[in-house]
Amino acid sequence: MDTSPWQRIRRKIRRLIMRASASIAPLPEIPAALWLCTLNTYPFLAELELAEQAKLRALAARFLQHKRFHGAHGLIVTDAMAVEIAAQACLPLLHWGEPVQALRWYDDFVGIVVHPGEAVARREYRDEAGVMHYYDEVIMGEAMEKGPVMLSWQAVDAGRRPHAHNAPGTQSTMNVVIHEFAHKIDMRNGSADGCPPLPPGFMGAGSAREARRIWQAHWGQAYETFREQVIIAQRFGGQPPWLDDYGASAPAEFFAVACEAFFVQRQRFDQEFPKLAGLLEALFHPEASSLPKP
Ligand SMILES: [Zn+2]
Repeated sequence: MDTSPWQRIRRKIRRLIMRASASIAPLPEIPAALWLCTLNTYPFLAELELAEQAKLRALAARFLQHKRFHGAHGLIVTDAMAVEIAAQACLPLLHWGEPVQALRWYDDFVGIVVHPGEAVARREYRDEAGVMHYYDEVIMGEAMEKGPVMLSWQAVDAGRRPHAHNAPGTQSTMNVVIHEFAHKIDMRNGSADGCPPLPPGFMGAGSAREARRIWQAHWGQAYETFREQVIIAQRFGGQPPWLDDYGASAPAEFFAVACEAFFVQRQRFDQEFPKLAGLLEALFHPEASSLPKP
């Protein structure tokens, strides 16, 4: 084999040309069998209208083209796993314009790390006396501001078991993928605080500031009510709320937990939280003239 400098340069040029042509190749479609399998695994995706499913498929295909999946601790992330994650991650973007435009919401990161089970995150905080405390927290997912998303496949899997949706009275509202990507959306205007960027026309508001005021007034009140309900259930044996009680830990968590239920069990969410359902409907299904922008 000739390894002269000229040959090496020619091979390098050929590789560069091949790489460039790969990057302008048309988007690969998600294979039909794989896509149908994903729809059948998640009842809330199967219930979408045909046109919505087609759009979600296109969004997920583009998402997969621009994201990199990493399996932690030897986990192999299969195509089926990646498509399932992509479809759920893209669900909140479904009515936010064309795929290129909608996916700008997720353009601040590339990596998605999938752990086989729970992950342990090292945490630290400084108390009022200035003393640093360190502790380990077991987590099922994590979204980092302008950074990657971590998901536990064990938690993703818990949201895909059909029995969790079929057994009356035991329906789970939990969905770690929607939860973490709701945080990513929330984080587009700074740290997660339960208020994502809102367009000026949101709920008839005259400005983005006014939209934020409307949002925070409703969500703040709902969060306090929910928090109280969780405290009464945990300390005094009251009726536990329908929504995951983890939502009582912070306004940002309440928003993420509410998004899970909004997309996974819409009818029940509408009954339990009619005001929040109206706000989430206005956010995730806006008029074309007032699309939210990241
Ligand atoms: Zn969270």
